[in-house]
Amino acid sequence: MSTYCVTGGAGFIGSHLCERLLKAGHRVVCVDNFNEAYDYKTKIKNILNSIGMESDFQFIHKETDLLRLQRAVAGDSYKLVVADIRHADELDAAFAGERIDAVIHLAAMAGVRPSIADPLLYEDVNVRGTLQLLEAMRRHGVRKWLCASSSSVYGNNEKTPFGEDDAVDRSISPYAATKKACEVLGHTYYYLHGIDAVMLRFFTVYGERQRPDLAIHKFVAMLDRGEPLTVYGDGSSRRDYTYIGDIVDGIMGSLRYVEARDAVYEIVNLGTNRTVSLLELVRGVERALGKKARIRWLPNQPGDVKQTYADVSKAGRLFGYAPRTEFHEGLRRFVTWYRGNNYGQALDRRADL
Ligand code: NAD
Repeated sequence: MSTYCVTGGAGFIGSHLCERLLKAGHRVVCVDNFNEAYDYKTKIKNILNSIGMESDFQFIHKETDLLRLQRAVAGDSYKLVVADIRHADELDAAFAGERIDAVIHLAAMAGVRPSIADPLLYEDVNVRGTLQLLEAMRRHGVRKWLCASSSSVYGNNEKTPFGEDDAVDRSISPYAATKKACEVLGHTYYYLHGIDAVMLRFFTVYGERQRPDLAIHKFVAMLDRGEPLTVYGDGSSRRDYTYIGDIVDGIMGSLRYVEARDAVYEIVNLGTNRTVSLLELVRGVERALGKKARIRWLPNQPGDVKQTYADVSKAGRLFGYAPRTEFHEGLRRFVTWYRGNNYGQALDRRADL
């Protein structure tokens, strides 16, 4: 049994990862500050789902609820630490008394468009927070980590599919710039302090518990409520949508890879090598819900890239990554979850595509 610290473990990807680590028999130290990007109640339910507890939690008030949650979930294999990665003392408290084998760093301000409205917050959490985490790892002798980067670092890369060796110095959003900064910091700490790292460039992740501000979740919620779908641009932009189960497979594969070797610093794409246009997504959502959509066309948004398209051969070569979930099947699973367990609230925020 190993002990893994998952930052952002109450979020969409983090809660799925914690679930997989627990099922594999490991101990998880989940660090999350339950930030305001979306409802903390959703994150509490993510955690309860991820550790297999009934989600009939009675909500009272955020601070009280988090204390009750911490007590309810504490056990030999799971510890929830409500902490902000920007605060060294809170990270020290999270690491104290633990022998952490590796950190999987997913905590961040996620999403392209809000980063244009609040770039300093993105810089503070994603860059300074990551640096604080690396310093805490150094202080506590943690020598392995994985870090969530993003396909957005490729900007409007002309060459497709996007390969890890392509130039990524033409960021078109503050979010992308902060993710690139994390990759650079990862290399710095690898070089100076021997902290082995795999930086994972996730390509638009979807599936059960997806963030409420992401396009698939928003479109399903809008169509379900009979509202028109807000579509930016002419519908031709394309995304490499990656199902959450495949992403977790990729994280687990890269974890095995980094743990089995010394002196590792790699950047790896986790996508599918297959793209879906915005209009195809709308048609897919219609099919999955059995309803016809009305569309509200709006201009392209600054920061949005024209397409994302992953070359995933490096992940395949390094740790056998092979995404399996076909897009319509993944969409069907999301809709089933949405209908059965919907607790997400679509934010009054533009969809990130
Ligand atoms: P999410 O918002 O659901 O999860 C992030 C979690 O981090 C949240 O629970 C939040 O409360 C926590 N957090 C934020 N700031 C924190 C802080 N200062 N201290 C402690 N915890 C903090 O997002 P997600 O979709 O699960 O994304 C996880 C990671 O993957 C992020 O780093 C994101 O940038 C990256 N990513 C996601 C996608 C995607 O499509 N979902 C694509 C590319 C990259």
